[in-house]
Amino acid sequence: MQQGPRTGKQQGIQGDVAPPVPWHALPAEAVLERLGSTEAGLTEEAARERLARFGPNELKRERAESAWKLLWRQINSPLIWVLIASAVLAILLGKVTDGLVVAAVVVLNTLIGFVQEYRAGKAIEALGHMVPESTTVMRDGRQVALPASKLVPGDVVRLASGDRVPADLRLLRSRNLQVEEAALTGESVPSSKHVAAVAGDAELGDRASLAFGGTLVTSGTTTAVVVATGSATELGRISHLLAQAADLTTPLTRELARLGRIITLGIVVLSAVLLGVGLGRGYMFSDAVLVSITLAVAAIPEGLPAIVTIALAIGVQRMATRRAVIRKLPAVETLGSTTVICTDKTGTLTRNEMTVRALWTPREHYALTGVGYDPEGQLLREGQPQDAPPDDVRALLLAGVLCNEATLQAQDGRWRMTGDPTEGALLVAAEKVGLGVSDLRARHPRLDAIPFESEQQFMATLHANGADGRDLFIFIKGAPEVVLRRCTPKEDADGVLAQVERMARQGMRVLAVARKDAPGATALQLRDAEDGFTLLGLQGMIDPPREEAVEAVKGCHTAGIRVKMMTGDHLATAEAIGLQLGLHTPGHPGLTGARLSELDDADLARAVMDTNVFARVAPEHKLRLVRALQAQGHVVAMTGDGVNDAPSLKQANIGVAMGITGTAVSREAADLVLTDDNFATIVSAVEEGRRVYDNLMKSLAFVLPTNLGLALILLMGVAFFPIQQAAGVHVPLMAMRPTQLLWINLVATVTLALPLAFEARERHVMCRPPRPPDAPVLNRFVVMRTGLVALLMAAGAIGLFLWEFSRQGGAHAAMDPRPLAEAQTMAVNTVISFQIFYLWLCRTLSGSMREVGLFSNRTIFVGIATLVLLQAAFMYVPFFQRLFGTAPLSPGAIARSVLAGAVVLPVVGLEKWLRSRSTRRSDRDDSLPQDRARLPA
Ligand code: ADP
Ligand code: MG
Repeated sequence: MQQGPRTGKQQGIQGDVAPPVPWHALPAEAVLERLGSTEAGLTEEAARERLARFGPNELKRERAESAWKLLWRQINSPLIWVLIASAVLAILLGKVTDGLVVAAVVVLNTLIGFVQEYRAGKAIEALGHMVPESTTVMRDGRQVALPASKLVPGDVVRLASGDRVPADLRLLRSRNLQVEEAALTGESVPSSKHVAAVAGDAELGDRASLAFGGTLVTSGTTTAVVVATGSATELGRISHLLAQAADLTTPLTRELARLGRIITLGIVVLSAVLLGVGLGRGYMFSDAVLVSITLAVAAIPEGLPAIVTIALAIGVQRMATRRAVIRKLPAVETLGSTTVICTDKTGTLTRNEMTVRALWTPREHYALTGVGYDPEGQLLREGQPQDAPPDDVRALLLAGVLCNEATLQAQDGRWRMTGDPTEGALLVAAEKVGLGVSDLRARHPRLDAIPFESEQQFMATLHANGADGRDLFIFIKGAPEVVLRRCTPKEDADGVLAQVERMARQGMRVLAVARKDAPGATALQLRDAEDGFTLLGLQGMIDPPREEAVEAVKGCHTAGIRVKMMTGDHLATAEAIGLQLGLHTPGHPGLTGARLSELDDADLARAVMDTNVFARVAPEHKLRLVRALQAQGHVVAMTGDGVNDAPSLKQANIGVAMGITGTAVSREAADLVLTDDNFATIVSAVEEGRRVYDNLMKSLAFVLPTNLGLALILLMGVAFFPIQQAAGVHVPLMAMRPTQLLWINLVATVTLALPLAFEARERHVMCRPPRPPDAPVLNRFVVMRTGLVALLMAAGAIGLFLWEFSRQGGAHAAMDPRPLAEAQTMAVNTVISFQIFYLWLCRTLSGSMREVGLFSNRTIFVGIATLVLLQAAFMYVPFFQRLFGTAPLSPGAIARSVLAGAVVLPVVGLEKWLRSRSTRRSDRDDSLPQDRARLPA
């Protein structure tokens, strides 16, 4: 059953033409015939009809984590267990309402956390679809690029190394094809594939004539026909394996979780001590337990996890709108502490719009005019237009056209190029002088090819001469050093290299082209491309830097981030472009990959800091450079697009892949994908990363003082007990009830702190050095601020509580619920008004309110308005009064609590002013408090 053809129901088209033997056991031609297709592919019409019949080539993804597991994860935290224990204990001791409210809050908190995480997880999963995968397909005999979802059975597709296999395929032709099938079989060693049919009962892993959807081509090329799409593919049948876990933990959330556990443990110990003390002082057992529970409830920052998750999710979404798609959540934070960005040149710093400007043949120099892919331009020799191209130019351009994978088509009056811009430029150059690309290709059919790989730096093709088809010749094109090494008359190699140098110094990318006869050849092997070539000439193309990249590089330098260019291109080209971008200083020569290989680790460590331009680097050099930078404590973001960049992308702290030109393999390995391939986007992402971190610090600075403040309020209540006892009262006097504490902790704090996640970035966010990656979350700034504000809050709340209480009849009234309720409500109200004022101070870490702008974050007003309404209900709605034991306050009392809350403005304002003054004095103008926290006190 397993190895038989999967018929009918599962396989769509195979239902009509189900082969009697499975696809992998059929010869290639038979497969094509059964699928009603040819090597020229389906017609557009047939494809449309099949798409309607079989549906899009998509997999339904399932969540990796079931809702139940997610829910359990919310509950299974020490904070929640303490709360649950408290609720049970309270109920057992007869404080049923209190117990139930605590329980209700636990449920509420769990639900909020659940919903937030679920939504954040969804948002992150959705990011996976933001970089659509495109595939090269034959339709109507022409090669087109289509989204993989449009594939239907019978489509003929072309794949090259780095591609993801878009559906289940039967190979028609292939060359050195290696496919990594980990997605399907878990086996990460690539397996070889070939066209020959295999036994019908072969296991999945042995079906070498098939390539399965979702697997990755690690090397080689193939032309293959689609045999199954969507859920009919092997992967579709086990699609639950595909569902990627949306992991929501990051170093910061882990650190906060650890912090939460420490706080919880501390609170539990303290509560136990308090219980002992309370009993020692003559509280009744149930009262003493209640005090301990209340303390636990007060001091644990229950709302924090929800706040952190939301802030991170908002960061991810913001980055996506700025065209940086996060693939792994921790990157959101790591981005904020990036110290070095290692970037490609072509396409990332430059526009990747190549135009051939200079031609050189052993006979003559030529220039070509025109811009873009419109073949409008002229051939110039010594400034004079040439009517017809001389033979040497003809031969040079012909080779450029034939040894080429790109296509150029006129479409609605515009010229469109598909393929590698470097190759597209060669086609445009030929068209400019009147050589028709399709005509040339028809006259010299290609028999075989060795595709371009960054490591080899050349490409070769084998052609027949159309006239009799018997003249066979090989073209090779690639980096001049590589091509020259394969040419026979080597005498003037130095002269040619001098020409290369001359072009490269103008920032041009230079390709050399050569030819040799290959009588009797039927296929092209690597060894056929090793020697015996005759040089036809050089083509030099410009690729202007992106304007925004110039700005972005400058921005990085102000932000204390170094930018290093790592390119496969020629050193002189790289230096010229580096100069235009402000990366390169003349007199500080760049380094080539070859030189790098000669350096030992110590020299490399020095070179990597001194040099910003690295040329002719291969992926293994990149890996070494990342490691060398990391060894010096740098946090490295590194871009990469090829198959072999995957290791350095994984090694880098932030692996950055290209959404447009990158390979699927590189995207898989990356933490961040740029949907526009643009260097400036990395910088935007860094900026967002810093903002996210700042806003989390703001949330911490806002939330933690409340918890400490509440704990202090309770502890002072216990401290007063001897005085009370002297007055003959033997009930602990608590400024707040547990349920009221939870109200503050969850309702008020979360309502107010959430808007901080929307706070705009600090004005100087990109003018300060990167955050040290090991900076503690609880830095000196947060700790000091927490202490200061907590003391203030506790003093205000207790003061007003006692005042209100004594006004109502003092300690003797402790047995009478009414005055106590009023005094407690007063205390709650004071804390909340305190929080509302303090919130404004938390909106910026270093700047002043005037810089930030009162109305720049409207969500603050929404938060405050919501809370004011809730607080009114808390005091005046009878249901809430019963639930929380509150009492209505008079306008005068409310005014007093608001005034007390306002005290925070001048006090923390003063603290901020002092802090900014000392920062300025220490001549670290824009450094954040957390940076200074690392300096010795
Ligand atoms: P980059 O870092 O600029 O993307 P690549 O690794 O793509 O560098 O290219 C390195 C060198 O290989 C180029 O300088 C050029 O000489 C040569 N080259 C680039 N593309 C091709 C191609 N399609 N065919 C042949 N040679 C190429
Ligand atoms: Mg390239």
